[in-house]
Amino acid sequence: MTTNEINNIRAEFPILLEKVYNRPLIYFDNAATTQKPKAVLDRIIYGYEHLNANIHRGVHFLSQQATEAHEDARNYIANFINASSSTEIIFTRGTTEAINLVAFSLGEFACQKGDEIVISVMEHHSNIVPWQMLCERKGMKLRIIPMNEKGELQLDEYEKLLNERTKLVSVTHVSNVLGTINPVKEIITKAHSKNIPVLIDGAQAVPHIQVDVQELDADFYVFSGHKVYASTGIGVLFGKREWLEKIPPYQGGGEMIQNVTFERTTYNELPFKFEAGTPDYIGSTALAEALKYVQNIGMEKIANYENELTRYATKRLMEIDGMRIYGTSENKSSVISFLVENIHPYDIGAILDKHGIAVRTGHHCAQPLMDFLKIPGTVRTSFSFYNTKEEIDTFIEALKRVVNMFR
Ligand code: PLP
Repeated sequence: MTTNEINNIRAEFPILLEKVYNRPLIYFDNAATTQKPKAVLDRIIYGYEHLNANIHRGVHFLSQQATEAHEDARNYIANFINASSSTEIIFTRGTTEAINLVAFSLGEFACQKGDEIVISVMEHHSNIVPWQMLCERKGMKLRIIPMNEKGELQLDEYEKLLNERTKLVSVTHVSNVLGTINPVKEIITKAHSKNIPVLIDGAQAVPHIQVDVQELDADFYVFSGHKVYASTGIGVLFGKREWLEKIPPYQGGGEMIQNVTFERTTYNELPFKFEAGTPDYIGSTALAEALKYVQNIGMEKIANYENELTRYATKRLMEIDGMRIYGTSENKSSVISFLVENIHPYDIGAILDKHGIAVRTGHHCAQPLMDFLKIPGTVRTSFSFYNTKEEIDTFIEALKRVVNMFR
């Protein structure tokens, strides 16, 4: 991307003009949540100013307009990830809720005592704990795919974990700590050769990579709106129709029913069977708007530029004595986790903050990965297409000052 293009993009994100302790904000915490462009903010305000009425149940004009906008958003999202039908797109509160939905519904449908779920060592807590809860409920076992020293999953070990008791494989597309882009197509193919379905946690992938759920042949694919420039409280579960039809609903309530008597309830058709209660019908339109925004820039362009930033930052970080980067796969996204010898990550994060630089420190909701690496946590920078090399230079200079203070 040219400097001009980046400057134009930056001008569309009002928060990038904020000052932190009187310094320009440098926001390197994009893996936690992304900032919102004007188009998305405007869409939210427009929704509440012009299109606000509860959807699906109303005969009145405004309700029909709001319903149409919500369903248009669903269609857009289906096309964006190349789902074969918008009925395969379930709106959730985010990645976490989507995984909990599958853990409950698939768990009820397919799982029994002695069965197994396969996850990997680099999962976010939201792709660990729901499966642990299922295992406790049903007397099942979690099996863990290990990784090598670069932070890449060991596929030979993975294959050995698959057997007739495996009811699901659930792995992250991109690690929120290491940045590793996992070979999910290969992971899915291997599981399918044994008739095992696969869920892919796309929370860190959708903002950076063009995802095609049909090409991947994923059975379930989940992501969060707020990590891809949309609002909080909206997310997506893609599920293959054949699975969504078979598994029972997750929550009961309005919208998800066809007919209710005190004796018996019949459930609504897809996708509504999984959408109990009033959905975030403004958030859904904001999500579609955010996806339009990134599509307009171009996913390939975004990936190329973010890779350039990541390579540049990695090279500059290595200038620092005692630097150790966790996650060195060739195939990685714009996340860099690091530690500097003898300096606590919290100290680094706190001092960088005083320079207006937002990074994340700690276990990044991946405590088992930290245990595997035998470290308490890391400092994590995660870049977006609105970040610049100049910001990275400022960050490196500030980091060098922190290191000198502690040495
Ligand atoms: N999975 C991964 C890989 C993540 O990075 C995150 C958030 O950091 C989540 C799941 C959970 O996302 P949310 O909190 O939006 O549900």
